[in-house]
Formats: sequence, C-alpha cells, structure tokens
Amino acid sequence: MNIENMSEKSVLKYVIVILLAIMILTTIVVLYFNFETIKQNFFDNQVEILTVVPDNEEDILRVVFTGVSSPLTPHIAQQSVVISINNKNYVFDAGARSTANFVSQGTLEAAYIEAVFITHTHSDHIGSLGELVLASWGRGRTSSLPVYGAGKEIQNVVDGFNLAYLPDREHRTTHHGAEFFKPENGLLIAKIFPMPDSELLVFEDNNIKVFAFVVPHGPIHGAVGYRIIAEDRSVVISGDTDVMENYNFINGTDLLVHEAIIEEVSTKVSESAYRLGNERIGEIFKDINDYHANLIDYDNRPGLLSKLNEIDLGMLALIHIIPDKDNIIVKRSLKHFKSQSKHDVIIAGINMEIQLPLQSKEIIVK
Ligand SMILES: [Zn+2]
Ligand SMILES: [Zn+2]
Repeated sequence: MNIENMSEKSVLKYVIVILLAIMILTTIVVLYFNFETIKQNFFDNQVEILTVVPDNEEDILRVVFTGVSSPLTPHIAQQSVVISINNKNYVFDAGARSTANFVSQGTLEAAYIEAVFITHTHSDHIGSLGELVLASWGRGRTSSLPVYGAGKEIQNVVDGFNLAYLPDREHRTTHHGAEFFKPENGLLIAKIFPMPDSELLVFEDNNIKVFAFVVPHGPIHGAVGYRIIAEDRSVVISGDTDVMENYNFINGTDLLVHEAIIEEVSTKVSESAYRLGNERIGEIFKDINDYHANLIDYDNRPGLLSKLNEIDLGMLALIHIIPDKDNIIVKRSLKHFKSQSKHDVIIAGINMEIQLPLQSKEIIVK
C-alpha cells in the first residue's frame, strides 16, 4: 500500500477506522481493569434501591400521597395518604399498589409505621393492607401493626388479611428464624372505635392527635374522615364522601385532602358505555354519582366549590378523582374549578409531598 498514491478520501477512511479501533480497544481495556468495581456498583445499587434515607428535618408535618385513585382508574395506585413527622409514619388508607409507592419513595421507613387508619372498607382503601404489614415487618417493625377504623367490619378485614398472609408469615419465620422475623410483628391488630356522634379522638402519641368524624358515603356503614393535628398544624382527610352538609367544623385547617367526582363527566361516560353496549360500566358510572363529592353545583345540588366558599383553608388537595384525572375533559373541569375556587387547589399525584412546618403558616408542595 503506497500512501502517496491514495486519494485524500481513502486516507481519511483509514484514519477513521484506526481511530475507531483505538477507541474500542481503550474501552475494552478500561472495562477489563474496572470490571470488579463496575460489578460491585451493580450490587451496591441493589442495596441502595432498598435503602431508605429518612428526611431528618424535625418538626415538619409531611403529607405524602402514595395512592390517589379509585377503582375506576385502575392504572393508578389506589388511595393512601401517609402522614409523617419526626420519622414516624401514620398511614391513612392502604389502597392497592400504594405500598410499592411507599417503599420506593425513598424517605419513608416502613419499619416506623406507627398505625394505619381506615376511612371505610371499600377495596380501594384496604387492598394493600397485607403488603403494608409484610413490608413493615420485613424492614424491622418491632410490634404488631394497629389498624384503626369504625365498626366491626374492620375486625373482619384485619382477620382476613392475617389469615391470608399466615402461610407467608410461617415461611419467613421458618426461613429466617423466629428471632429475626418475630411472628407477632407480622400481624395486624384491629383497633375499633364506635361511630362518632361528632368528632372523636381515636389516637394520640407524642407527635399527633387523630380525630374521626362521620361522612356520608351510604350505603357503606362506618365511613369516616380524619383530622390530624400536630401542634399548630392540621390536615383533614375526607375519605370517600358525598358533599357534606357543612364544612364549618374544618375552619382554619391547613390542608384539606378531599375526594372528588365530576358528575357531568361521569354521567356522559355512563351514557357512552350504554351506547357502546357496555351496560355494566354504564350502570356503575350512573350509581357512583350519589355517594361521591361533585366539584361544582349540579342538578340542583351544591358542589364542593360553593360549600367550601366560606371556609378558611390553607390549601385544598383533590384526590380519588372520578373519572380519570388525565382525561382531557376532566382536566378542563379541574382547571375551571381551580379558577373559580378561592382556595389554593392542587391535584394529588403519586408521591407528591406537602410539608407543613410546625409553628409556621408555610405550606410547601414538593
Ligand atoms: Zn374509594
Ligand atoms: Zn368508597
């Protein structure tokens, strides 16, 4: 090969090939000598995704949404709201798939779940109880997990999950040893309170007080909402409810987490389902209108917008939105609601966090 006889183009080709060969060789050499480190990083990464780095800032009431949907939006984890303060966690409802979000959120330690509070026994509020008790047991919780709720249905739910997970508990205790996986720490314990006439204090520790109040979600018996108080900050979680008669009792609340339906849209979805021959979906979307909270006045019934108009709130977070909050018409309705509401309104999203620092008026959305 005589380089002098070669065209400029051919020389360039050779240079590119040689450069590429050098690059590939260098990469192989680098990978070869760093193989152990690369492999180690891979294993470390497996540990890291299971490691929680707690948010160590004290005296902040944190509200984390690990599940935000109803059964009618099955692609999103169902309702669960975690209240966290000083690295203690209190779980309000445990809808299907919410435990996965809790565990992968990265700053919430499942071992430090102090209690679970159930608003009512619809499946989209209890479906992940088994996973929650298992995850917290596996991560080292040191006692059984208390589950608070109104009425004896809670006992049935707790007994059912304990029975369903009995073989799993036995396998793990046999495999890892009863000292490491203490059998009693893998159990749910029902903490039943009577249906409150007005607000009832159902839980108190060094961090928070929890009050329960009845909400209209008939025909479900035992549906409640919760008010959580930490020093001067407060959060109210409506659970599933029709629009309540009056909201005066939550005047001054920092954060109201309220469910919502857009009845005009769900009625149209029902009509569409009938037209498409899916009578089952048509019937379901028709039935649900009467026990969820419509956002605006509809069919001569007041919506959340007018009911909350005179109420003093720091922020309103809408959750459990029916139909799907990502549907374009629903999005438009939500935008309209936001523009009409006198409150700061946000739409709860998966692992969205709201922080309420104690002894302050500040509300931080993360
Ligand atoms: Zn629900
Ligand atoms: Zn419900």
